[in-house]
Amino acid sequence: MPTSHPVLSVVVPMYDEEDVLPIFFERMHPLLDGLGISYEVLVVDDGSRDGTATLLREATGTWPQLRLVRLLRNSGHQAALSAGFRRARGDYLVTIDADLQDPPEAIAELLATAREKDVDVVYGVRSDRSSDSWPKRTTARMYYRLMCRLVGMDIPFDAGDFRLVSRRVVDAVNGLPEDGRVFRLVIPWLGFPSAQVKYVRAERAAGVTKYNWSKMFRLAFDSVTAFSAAPLRLATWLGLLGGLVCGLFVVGALVVKLSGNSVPGWTSTVLAVGIIGAIQLLCLGLLGEYVARLFQSSQRRPQFLVGYDSLEDPGHHSYAE
Ligand code: UDP
Ligand code: MG
Repeated sequence: MPTSHPVLSVVVPMYDEEDVLPIFFERMHPLLDGLGISYEVLVVDDGSRDGTATLLREATGTWPQLRLVRLLRNSGHQAALSAGFRRARGDYLVTIDADLQDPPEAIAELLATAREKDVDVVYGVRSDRSSDSWPKRTTARMYYRLMCRLVGMDIPFDAGDFRLVSRRVVDAVNGLPEDGRVFRLVIPWLGFPSAQVKYVRAERAAGVTKYNWSKMFRLAFDSVTAFSAAPLRLATWLGLLGGLVCGLFVVGALVVKLSGNSVPGWTSTVLAVGIIGAIQLLCLGLLGEYVARLFQSSQRRPQFLVGYDSLEDPGHHSYAE
């Protein structure tokens, strides 16, 4: 089997997953062997501190398709996925969590769908989230609602990081120079033809969640700031509003002064505070606008990606889709 260029790369980020690893191997190994295609399993050990690294190294003895990448320190789920995207060699790449919440059996369906429908992305979409806790479901719903509004595009609801992408997508993602990418937003944003496969998300097979509250907040903040300058724009509007209120105060103070009811020194104090406040808030808002522009151009995202060009690829049929 030509391992240098397998059909399928399965990328699995792992952080302190020693409890689930034996079950993971037991279920994944026969399943992937049974697909009848060449594959590699690329485990990205995200700086685990438990026995994960040892267990993984041992497993390479019995599973030749297992490839290991170890990050020096815990860099987070999305960073681990980035490392996997850079190293995967397959024509197709599936990302899947280590905890078997996403059924590995569905990998075959993801692959078949990609081939049948000739699409570059197949999202695994959770048809039932009842296995997740109530706070997780609620925050997840809020997250997807907010992101759809901010990003201004249809991101598939309840599609986590269980999905298949083609080599074209892998190369496009790797070509994005930005840091802190959030895959579940960047991939729909790229705009490749896609399809969905529904699945039921299971309970974690063993161990506990590695996404604590601070990591969930990190993901939410990265998601918002990577795709939207809305918080900065909000600062501009607040600045304008604050400036307006300060202006009204200044006018009010002058009126009081002219009507002769003011205490000595009051008008000049209000005027000084009001005018300086108004100028500061307006300037802050203006700065926000410039920072937003700088930020967007520093991401250096491509302005567009070409799906079809009759000059380069006359025989290709995806133009009609
Ligand atoms: N993970 C990781 N680095 C982290 C946190 C999580 O690589 O800092 C991995 C983890 O091992 C798992 C996947 O990301 O394979 C999803 O994490 P988890 O199942 O704990 O999240 P949940 O399903 O609870 O959202
Ligand atoms: Mg999980």
